[in-house]
Amino acid sequence: MTPAAYIDHHSADLVRQLRHLVGISTVNPPGENYDPITAWLTRELTALGLKSKRFTLPRALLKKSLPPEQHAFPRYNVLGKLVAPGAKKTVHFNAHYDVVPVSGRWKHGNPFSGKIDGGWIFGRGTSDMKGSIASLLLTLQSLRATRTTPRLNVEVSFTADEETDSALGTGWLVEHAPIRPDFAVVMEGGELNQVCCGHNGCIWLEVTVHGRAAHGSRPDLGINALEKMAALVRDLEVYQRQLTRRRWQTPNGRIASPTLNVGGIFSCGAGAKINTVPAHASFSLDRRVLAIESHVGAERDLRAFLAAAARRIPNCCISVTKISENYACFTPPTHPFFAAMAGCVTNVRREPAVFNVSTGFNDMHFFASILKIPTLGYGPGGRKEHAVDEAAKVSELVASAKIYAELLTTFGG
Ligand SMILES: [Zn+2]
Repeated sequence: MTPAAYIDHHSADLVRQLRHLVGISTVNPPGENYDPITAWLTRELTALGLKSKRFTLPRALLKKSLPPEQHAFPRYNVLGKLVAPGAKKTVHFNAHYDVVPVSGRWKHGNPFSGKIDGGWIFGRGTSDMKGSIASLLLTLQSLRATRTTPRLNVEVSFTADEETDSALGTGWLVEHAPIRPDFAVVMEGGELNQVCCGHNGCIWLEVTVHGRAAHGSRPDLGINALEKMAALVRDLEVYQRQLTRRRWQTPNGRIASPTLNVGGIFSCGAGAKINTVPAHASFSLDRRVLAIESHVGAERDLRAFLAAAARRIPNCCISVTKISENYACFTPPTHPFFAAMAGCVTNVRREPAVFNVSTGFNDMHFFASILKIPTLGYGPGGRKEHAVDEAAKVSELVASAKIYAELLTTFGG
C-alpha cells in the first residue's frame, strides 16, 4: 500500500487525534495545559519511530520573558527527529500548539469538544493549528506502516506561544535546540492551493497623549488629551494614504501595500471621570510591514510622522512606546523546494498551486530570517481562526497529510 492509500484508509485516526488535541485547552495567554499536551505529543512522536525530546524552558527565562501572572505556567517545546537512511538533506516541520482564548456562543456548545458536522471539525485550534499537527502525525504513521523511507531526514517541532510572541516557542527553538534543517515547512500561512513563501511583519506601538486635568466645568484651564488625540488620529489618515501608494506585486499577482490599523486598543488611563478634563489618552498602532520594506526604516518613519504631527497640534505632548514586533520574511519561490511543494499540492488537490504572501505573520520568519533556509507555509487551515465556530475541513486535513507524505517521498533536496 502507498502512504497516500494508507492515509485515505486511516482518516478516522487523524480525526480522533485532532479531537484529542482540541480537548486539551492550551489557551494562551496564560498558556494552560502545556504540560499534558507536550507530554502527549512527545509520546506520539516516539511511538511513530522518531527520536523525541521535550524541552522544559528554565524558570529564570520564564521570569524574564513573561508577565508575572504567567510565571506559574511552564513552557515546553517538543522536538522529534527521523533519520532516513541515504538522505543527505533535512526538512523541518513546525507547528505551534497554543490557541487563542475563546468567547461568544458556539454553535456546538463547548469549543473544546471537537464536534464533527458536515465534514468539518469544530473547536478552538482546529484550524489554527492543531489540525496541522494531526495531519503530520498521520503522514508519519503512513510512512512507518507502509515501510516507506523518506528521501529527506525529518525534524518535527511543536512549539509554544505563537499566539503571543513566540519568544519561548519557535524563537527559542531556532536559537537553542539541536536542529540542522536545510528546508522548513511551517504548517500554516498557505492552504488550499496556496503555498506561502513569505509574510508581512508588524510593529505594535502605543501612543500616549499627555494633557492636563481640570474641573469639568472649567475646560479652559486644562489640556484635553482626548481632543489632542482626535487631531493626531485625523493626521494619521494622511500617513495611511501614503502607505497605500507603496505597492508590491506578490508572486501570485496580488498588489500588496503596507497598512496601519489605528486604535485596536484605546483608553483614557487612570483618574478618568465624566466631570474631569481628560489628562491621558492612549491608543495602539498596528503597522504591517511588507517583506520588501525595511523594518527599522518603517518604525523610524512612523515615529517621525507622529512627532511632526504632534508638533503641529498646539499643546500636544506625546510619548510612543513599542509593545511588540515581528519580522516579515520572503523567499523568492524559485528554489526547487518550492517547486516540489507546489507539485505535491497540485497533484493531491488536482488544482494548480499558486504562491502567496500572507498578510498575517506566523513563525516562518524564524526559519527564513534567522536560519536563512528556504521556508514555506502550508497546512490544512480552515475557517474562523481566532473567532467563534473555528473549524477545519476533514478533506483538507487528509489532503495535507498526503501532500506532506508526497513531499517526503519525492523530494530529496
Ligand atoms: Zn497559528
